[in-house]
Amino acid sequence: MLNNSLNQKKSYGAFASESKSAPQENLPLNPLPPLQDRHGRTFDYVRIAVIEQCNLRCTYCMPEEGVKFKEKDMVLRTDEILRVVEVLARMGVRKVRYTGGEPTVRPDIVDIVARTAKTPGVKAVHLTTNGLLFPKYARDLREAGLFGVNISLDSLQADKFESITRRSGLEKVLESIDLAVELGFPRVKVNVVLMRGFNEDELIPFCELTKDRPITVRFIEFMPFDAHQIWESGEHFASAADLCGQIESFYQGHGLQPTSGTRTEHHIYQVPGYAGKVAVIPAFTRSLCGNCSRIRVTADGSIMNCLYSEEPYLLKDLIRNGASDDDVVALFRKAFDEKHKDGFEAKKAASVAAKINVSDISRSRASMTQIGG
Ligand code: SF4
Repeated sequence: MLNNSLNQKKSYGAFASESKSAPQENLPLNPLPPLQDRHGRTFDYVRIAVIEQCNLRCTYCMPEEGVKFKEKDMVLRTDEILRVVEVLARMGVRKVRYTGGEPTVRPDIVDIVARTAKTPGVKAVHLTTNGLLFPKYARDLREAGLFGVNISLDSLQADKFESITRRSGLEKVLESIDLAVELGFPRVKVNVVLMRGFNEDELIPFCELTKDRPITVRFIEFMPFDAHQIWESGEHFASAADLCGQIESFYQGHGLQPTSGTRTEHHIYQVPGYAGKVAVIPAFTRSLCGNCSRIRVTADGSIMNCLYSEEPYLLKDLIRNGASDDDVVALFRKAFDEKHKDGFEAKKAASVAAKINVSDISRSRASMTQIGG
């Protein structure tokens, strides 16, 4: 089980007493009209993958032998990332999340976070990590102004953790969860990809992590982005409805209450007296497309207007060809003007363009790290 560190009440001085509310909004310079699409959605949240490399080899994400990662120069440079953030902040983006691959593998991640947090218009910077290297950078990231941390963890059992990730390190991840709480990060979430026959039996032990910890444990539907991996058989898919049913029936005698969460956390609960919350994310079911507010930028610098879209808009090439900020704004507007109503339409359009079956879409990706998870 988790380290007992929460009960040790370690003090981290200034961090521990900081307010849980979002930092004061610093207004953007030269604001522009918001980024919207033809379906009336406004996009105010960007997820930027800063690296493709990862120090794990999760079965649902990457083949055992790894994948051929892009050359370093093919990945967005620090100044390019910050320029994109600056432009997006002028268009109304307030939340920035750094993903990967594993973002803490990138040596300048603390610098990127610090400079992003100071960008006019940016309200909150978040990071998604697998938790292996997080303890090394946690204090610096907190000082740099990181607001939220999502820690990915699919099993609380060492042998199962190793079979899913093909690496050891469960203790480090558990340490990361405790450390994130101790350091007072205002948002600490644990992301669990729930797979039938793999880790479904850990649903309740994961929920129980919220008993004493002010964290949100989020169960994410397994998605078909593992080109050569385990999605094919279909046997591991557990639907959001199924997971909700199991949670509701287990906690029914405990007065489980629906509560509020972010836009994608459609099903969110709290057991009375528990410090944290539990959420189920219908990632594959795609029932939340009407609320979509995210922009994705891949590590190699493409804009993606939907997780299920196959059409990249080549932002890095544009920037490296000397584009002005207006050109960058125009590319984002074009990408979102062409966004489909939902993930199903996006996938259908991609299959028509590629002249392949809808079910074959996503197979061209060797790993989820290529789209930033
Ligand atoms: S499937 Fe596409 S449209 Fe739907 S929520 Fe995800 S990114 Fe947005």
